[in-house]
Amino acid sequence: MDTDTSGLSALDRRIAGCRACPRLVAWREEVARTKRAAFADWTYWGRPVPGFGPTDARLLIVGLAPAAHGGNRTGRMFTGDRSGDVLYQALYDVGLASQPTAVAADDGLELYGVRVTSPVHCAPPANKPTPAERDTCRSWLVQELGLLRPTLRAVVVLGAFGWQAALPAFGEAGWTVPRPRPAFAHGGQVELAGTDGPGLHLFGCFHVSQRNTFTGRLTPEMLREVLRTAARTAGLPAR
Ligand code: SF4
Repeated sequence: MDTDTSGLSALDRRIAGCRACPRLVAWREEVARTKRAAFADWTYWGRPVPGFGPTDARLLIVGLAPAAHGGNRTGRMFTGDRSGDVLYQALYDVGLASQPTAVAADDGLELYGVRVTSPVHCAPPANKPTPAERDTCRSWLVQELGLLRPTLRAVVVLGAFGWQAALPAFGEAGWTVPRPRPAFAHGGQVELAGTDGPGLHLFGCFHVSQRNTFTGRLTPEMLREVLRTAARTAGLPAR
């Protein structure tokens, strides 16, 4: 039985049925048909990937878009790829996840007070959505932020693209974004005033991409530190 009374589950179902971007619909479905050899026995999700985590989250993690053979295969954010391995290990290490691994949507992983989402919900070719696709998908993030707003106190945005894509959504969802818009920086913090409610603390963090983690640009301790600080700011116990 669906016990979600916040409307987030309904929103997630609507997102999963979205076909607004023809190029991304074609790409996600082609990848799901052709598959990667290592996952030949998988039935790929091949649809938009909704946010993952509790409906009363105090902390939101915003990535960029699902990976073709990660979220687009498993149907859950950051699940089934190396970026997710790094992210969920760090969330587990600081006490915000029930297990350090994320391999399939039914693997039992639970997040504690944290939700994970992205400004673009379909896997894009070369991990690069067009500005038009980014803008089209923003309305889903605005709606998600609106539903989370009663409890949401902090956001970690992974990478400069996610930062640029998400900032307007915070403005549309009821927080005041300074002008000029604050620039992305790893470890950077910005507080957005609420137009008629509590404010929101934004934290920048390098994306958990393989390029950043393999080269050491983003180390596990750097990631843990941002997550820990953001979680405590949001009122979550983090170790
Ligand atoms: S990227 Fe967003 S708006 Fe475009 S089809 Fe996917 S879910 Fe819909």
